[in-house]
Amino acid sequence: MTTQTRPDRAIAPASPARPIASWGLGDGQAIPWEYAPAPEARDLVKLKDRYGLFIGGREVAASDGAYFTSVDPATELPLAEVARGTAADMDRAVRAARGAFRRRWGRLPGKERAKYLYRIARILQERSREFAVLESMDSGKPIKESRDVDVPLAAAHFWYYAGWADKLEYAFPGRVARPLGVAGQVIPWNFPLLMLAWKIAPALAAGNTVVLKPASTTPLSALLFADVCRQANLPAGVVNIVPGPGEVGMSLVRHPDVDKVAFTGSTEIGRKIAAGVAGTDKALTLELGGKAANIVFEDAPLDQAIEGIVNGIYFNQGEVCCAGSRLLVQESIADPLIDRLKDRLATIRVGDPLDKNTDVGAINSRAQLEKITELVASGQAEGAEMYQPACNLPERGYFFRPTLFTNVAQSHRIAREEIFGPVLSVLTFRTPEEAVEKANNTPYGLSAGVWTEKGSRILAMVKRMKAGVVWANTFNRFDPTSPFGGYKESGYGREGGRHGLISYVRLEDR
Ligand code: NDP
Repeated sequence: MTTQTRPDRAIAPASPARPIASWGLGDGQAIPWEYAPAPEARDLVKLKDRYGLFIGGREVAASDGAYFTSVDPATELPLAEVARGTAADMDRAVRAARGAFRRRWGRLPGKERAKYLYRIARILQERSREFAVLESMDSGKPIKESRDVDVPLAAAHFWYYAGWADKLEYAFPGRVARPLGVAGQVIPWNFPLLMLAWKIAPALAAGNTVVLKPASTTPLSALLFADVCRQANLPAGVVNIVPGPGEVGMSLVRHPDVDKVAFTGSTEIGRKIAAGVAGTDKALTLELGGKAANIVFEDAPLDQAIEGIVNGIYFNQGEVCCAGSRLLVQESIADPLIDRLKDRLATIRVGDPLDKNTDVGAINSRAQLEKITELVASGQAEGAEMYQPACNLPERGYFFRPTLFTNVAQSHRIAREEIFGPVLSVLTFRTPEEAVEKANNTPYGLSAGVWTEKGSRILAMVKRMKAGVVWANTFNRFDPTSPFGGYKESGYGREGGRHGLISYVRLEDR
């Protein structure tokens, strides 16, 4: 959607949640128009009142019988009750995983494991609408993202790793790849199903069994995945899913019978997890926070760059570890680029995640909304200039306007801290050297973007930037064949691609 309306002259919104658009008549007049609501059907999902833990192939209650409520962040209404796992439940799950590893999965030939993974991939595709709707209800992300990105990519990871299951000798030529045993996996709330797939698919392909703890605000797609495991006749205990609070995640990390720990989430909790496995022989991968620089040179294709900037920071409400949250723009084009960016922001549609036209949905939780609000207030207090497009937000739910800060100094908190929200900080540079210096001036090192028409400049920049992924003339693109991971405080280890298998195998000489 495009509009001629400049945000500072924007007409008042017609409906509470929508920016208004208009068709120019060519004579200075305009006909305002509005998208009709296009809600996806919620009844594609048969929500149960209560969900148990998934241990040993069965749905079971928590050891103390406790439940917690999963809430729809767009309405603040409860969706379902979920069994709240305990340390005793984690122990039960690890024992189930160990038993399945010893008796069955660890001995199964790769081509047999592959069949299960293919089956899971196919079922995810068959049930993709159901998964997409549930994911949007539980996490707040727009349906067009869960439908077009999260769920297809989750299935693609199972397809991809199914392909490796019987080819490990080619993945690691001259070596014998043995599974590690039981993998303990703790995942966040920003891509609940996709992070599950990133973790479970390579683990199973390599012959490990898993215990997974989903985030407390988004347990439902993992519990629906438990249903997929049953449907695929996956042997009992190969996948176990135990929702519960952070300390229950720590009991999984510290469990003596866990061989490998994989975590995605905040750097703060990542540090605790690293301390939790220190002194043991557990394998560990950490995928943590980021503060990515998206660098736009004066020769960049501006229209594409604007879309890349928008996708880089407003995709998934900015709740993305590799979000392009720092825009570094070459000084000579800063003014026109920022003007065009503001115009583009005015067309972003914030609102009901289940509406197919929504670009920015609900923030995942009240706590996250408060964190974003506090950091944005700090940006204003420290002297940066804030711009938000003229759009009202729904009365209920956790929503935040797409936000742009100019006059940002590198010392400002909004330029240093991971906001994990739809907030972009714009800085400028004059030379490539200055761009590299500013891009690397962060304790994180997860991702970056470069926009220029010169291939040689892309290569020169990529070499000098300390980031696990550097996108060139695009941003936030993912593929199961491509490794992903960070440097510095963004963690260590890689997920995706052949690299993603390495952390789930022990390599022995032939
Ligand atoms: P956390 O890092 O706390 O949560 C990630 C996962 O770790 C969740 O499953 C969480 O469980 C679990 N967890 C929490 N505490 C512990 C613990 N002591 N031991 C083991 N597992 C634990 O992220 P938050 O949800 O608190 O988000 C805070 C900030 O972290 C965000 O604002 C954002 O900046 C960053 N973040 C980064 C992510 C990334 O992908 N890099 C993803 C999510 C957040 P539970 O949900 O029950 O607390």
